[in-house]
Order: sequence, then structure tokens, then C-alpha cells
Amino acid sequence: MAQPESTSTRDTRAASPLDVTAIRREFPILDVRIGNKPLIYLDNAATTHKPQAVIDAVQRFYMLQNANIHRGVHYLSQQATDAYEQARIRIGQFFNAPSSDEIIFVRGTTEGINLVAHSWGSKNLREGDEILITEMEHHANIVPWQLVAERTGAVLRVAPITDDGELDLDAFRARLSDKTRLVAVAHVSNALGTVNPVREIVAAARAAGALVLLDGAQSAPHMPVDLQKLDCDFFVCSGHKMYGPTGIGILWGRMELLEAMPPYEGGGDMIEWVTFEKTTFKAPPTRFEAGTPHIAGAIGLGAAVDFLERVGRPALAAHEEAITAYAVEQLGRVEGLSIVGRPRHRAGAISFVLEGVHPHDIGTILDSEGVAIRAGHHCAQPLMRRLGLNATARASFGLYNKREEVDALVAALDKVRAMFG
Ligand code: PMP
Repeated sequence: MAQPESTSTRDTRAASPLDVTAIRREFPILDVRIGNKPLIYLDNAATTHKPQAVIDAVQRFYMLQNANIHRGVHYLSQQATDAYEQARIRIGQFFNAPSSDEIIFVRGTTEGINLVAHSWGSKNLREGDEILITEMEHHANIVPWQLVAERTGAVLRVAPITDDGELDLDAFRARLSDKTRLVAVAHVSNALGTVNPVREIVAAARAAGALVLLDGAQSAPHMPVDLQKLDCDFFVCSGHKMYGPTGIGILWGRMELLEAMPPYEGGGDMIEWVTFEKTTFKAPPTRFEAGTPHIAGAIGLGAAVDFLERVGRPALAAHEEAITAYAVEQLGRVEGLSIVGRPRHRAGAISFVLEGVHPHDIGTILDSEGVAIRAGHHCAQPLMRRLGLNATARASFGLYNKREEVDALVAALDKVRAMFG
């Protein structure tokens, strides 16, 4: 990964140590053409593409190692178990978890949050206790808390954002009290790209005696995540947004919390001993992985973190920051276009609206130019309501995006404007 991507702006040139051309060659799907146009994929916040190394790891599992894990004494079962548990270890190291036993394989961010809400929430929340979230949360970090609040009598409180799309830290602090049991916050907003000030959030929550869950769906793909430095209590993310397979993600939790949590689902593998009268459960992480897990997915996610390590997260973060800054600058030049939110620290995503054109029409016309973006409420309806919008168009970037693709987006937006004249 030696040569900088060729660029014409000073900032981008200074901060793009990735060999993007070489990286792009590792992603077979980037050669797909949309009609007669090259694919310009700017929907990375929804899901990222997969490098050959991840595709190969999944294929190798099914071709050479396939068996169920943990239960078999035969050769293949041991191979599969080793590969699955090795992936857990590598993912633990990738996030600098104190122990890989704190890494629980789940379907993704959504299941991770539901697991905590269900297991930790049902055991620890009482009538009048409070859960604090923010106005910029994805539905996955709202609805599970509403459900557990209904069951337990706990109260869901919401910290507001500023007009720039940042968390209003003073208002956040003001909503913390000795009733707050848990703060659940997006590390990075999927709709606005805002990077939240985790250090301040964790410090304020700790001072109030509350735990912190970070929704890392949009941070894990874009920046180094060091769980010991972040000092949160739970962290969740999705493999498919970080160049890994769909259907797999992780929940990390502090061991003393996980050990005190009841099972989320019951079934095979998570038990020590079952009688019809009583069942005893294994320790974490197995306690929370009932039934046959997504073995190939976990192995594929292991390959994805190896890929990200090889590329280097500081370098990819710098590259994406430069591309995103360039996109903000170029989109700002499109007549009638407004960028939604002006966070000081942004990662990955830019939401925008175009005067007189519905975001879905923008998305459809861009598609005919080979440009894939997302249009809609981005699973953040309360945020849209706060912003006085029904929907936005969103361009989101990954490590394989290049400056020329931003130029193609802008050119396609000029066509949209011309059509709606
Ligand atoms: N939280 C955030 C911030 C997200 O961006 C997403 C996915 N868009 C989720 C949660 C849910 O992730 P998944 O659908 O992979 O469970």
C-alpha cells in the first residue's frame, strides 16, 4: 500500500496514503457495470462490498472445513471449531478487547442491542429507571429500549441535537441523573455522519453511575476502535458494514456484566446441564450463542478484520476523511443543494437535499448514471422529524472510493438539476 492516490487537491493528496487502485482490485464487484456505466458505489453506510480475502475465507470454509462446531469429536468439527474460535480471538485483538471471551457473535448491531436490552435490561431495569439515548439514533438503538421500557416500567429519555447535527452535550448532561441506568448512543450517526464525543459521553455517564452502550455500526468500518480506550461497557457492530459477510456481527461487553446477565435465547450449546426441572448455563460468550451460529460468517468476519489490519485503519481513516471533505466541498457547489448537518467531526456519510427534487427521484436518476446512493429516512425517523424533513439523499464512502467518484456524483446531480430545471 505504498503510493498515494493521485489527486489534485492539496488536502486529499496529503492525507491519502492508501493505494486505492490496488485496493479496488481486491473487490471483484467493483468491476460490475450498471448498464453501460461503471459502478460508482456510494452506499457504504448501508453495506460495504467484500474483498476477495473474505469471499475466499467463506468459500474455503464450505469447501474444506464445513462441520458443526463445539459438539463434534471428528476432524472437520475440530477444524471448524478452531476456525470459529480463532476468528473470535482475532476480532477481540482487532478491537483491543480485554478478553476474546467478551466477544459474542450475533447477527449484527440490531441483534446485539436487542440482546443487551433483553438480557441486561430485563434483569436490571425497574419502574422509574431511565435509559438515555439521543435524537440521532438509528431505529435499532431506539425500539429495543422502548420494548424493554414497556416491560419494566423504565423510562426512555432523549438528548437533543443541535441544528448542526451534533449532540447537545450540555443538554445531554442535564438529562443524566441518579435514575439513569444506561446511556445508549451511536458512535457515528448513519444519517448525518456525526462522530459523537465518546470521551465526554462516557465521563458524564460514569459520573452519574450509568453504563454506556456504543452503537458502533458506523464507526467500526471507518476508524480505529480501541475498546479499552473508549472505556464503554457494551459495543455492538455489524460485519457487513466492515467488509465482512451479512448475518454476523459482534456484541462486546465487560465480562463482569456479561457474567451477571441471564441468557437471551435458550437452546443447544449454551447449557451446562439440562433436566426437565432445571437448566444451568455456560459462561459467556457461549451462554449467549444458543444453537448453531453463523460459522462461515464469523470466519468471514475474521478475514475482514485481517484485511482491515493489512490496509491499516489510521490510513483508511485519513483517506476517507479526505474523500468526505472533498465531497462536502464539491456538493456545496451544486446549485440548490443543501448538506444536512455540519458536524465538526464527520465519518463516512453526507446527507443532502436538492431544492424541488424528492430524494427518491435523486436516487433513481443517479442510478441511471451508475451512481448508487441511498434516499429515505435512513431508519432514523425521529431524527428526520427533528430536522423538519421526510427524507434525505445520502452518499456514504468506503476505503475503495476515489475522488473521481465524487466528481461523477456531482456531474450526475447536475443532470438531476437540469431535468427538474
Ligand atoms: N445502528 C446504526 C448506526 C446503523 O447504521 C445500522 C445499520 N444501518 C444499524 C444500527 C443496524 O445494523 P444492522 O442492520 O446491521 O443490524
